[in-house]
Amino acid sequence: MNTMTQDLFRQDAYLTECTATVTAVTGQGLVLDRTVFYPLGGGQAGDAGVLVLAGGGQIAIADTRKGKDAEGHPTADIVHVPAPGQEAALAALKAGDTVTARIDWDRRHKLMRFHTATHLLCRVVPQLVNGCSITPEYARMDFNMTDPLDKDALTQGLAALVAAAHPVTVGSITDAELDANPALVKSMSVSPPRGSGVVRTIRIGDTDDAVDLQPCGGTHVANTREIGAVVVTKIEKKSATTRRVVLGFAA
Ligand SMILES: [Zn+2]
Repeated sequence: MNTMTQDLFRQDAYLTECTATVTAVTGQGLVLDRTVFYPLGGGQAGDAGVLVLAGGGQIAIADTRKGKDAEGHPTADIVHVPAPGQEAALAALKAGDTVTARIDWDRRHKLMRFHTATHLLCRVVPQLVNGCSITPEYARMDFNMTDPLDKDALTQGLAALVAAAHPVTVGSITDAELDANPALVKSMSVSPPRGSGVVRTIRIGDTDDAVDLQPCGGTHVANTREIGAVVVTKIEKKSATTRRVVLGFAA
């Protein structure tokens, strides 16, 4: 199988649904020619939602992953992983069928708010990151550092950046520009989304005075104000050289 799913969410993270054509039904899940579903990657959880069938009925999607070839290498396919118990609807689906792919927007919006918040945290804690996980319930980042961190100070630092209503914009730089500016890469664990000669970037703040600018393939809110009340719920010393910061939404 040599297909490619058009990733509509990279240019417009606010798209909640699209019509698409099924290109493959595999043991991994359903592959579409285009989708609004974000596949697990860069620390951000894969989307959930439904595929509404043209003939009526729908298939619940529990997760979204990048496709893998027989050797386990990633492909350009995006695989929609059905929830358990969808066998009957799946059996009726075949390549060429038309569906409407609709994400669970409440869940995705939480992922977007948390993902942008983790980039703000990179500004508040200017240290290299060696782990990151963004879920609908919490986000956590592991910083490569030995100094202690103060929970309340971090929460206040984030709140100020959220309240400042900084615009968040998608851009790109070339591989060569990235190689010339290695400090843009803040993550030791997630490599920039290279491959096409151009790397997607997320900028927070104005062009001349960015709050944060880094390579990222994830989905983000358009303005930091949309993050709302995010608080640091926990700081853990994971190792002698790792401080873990956990974010949650204020109750
Ligand atoms: Zn990111």
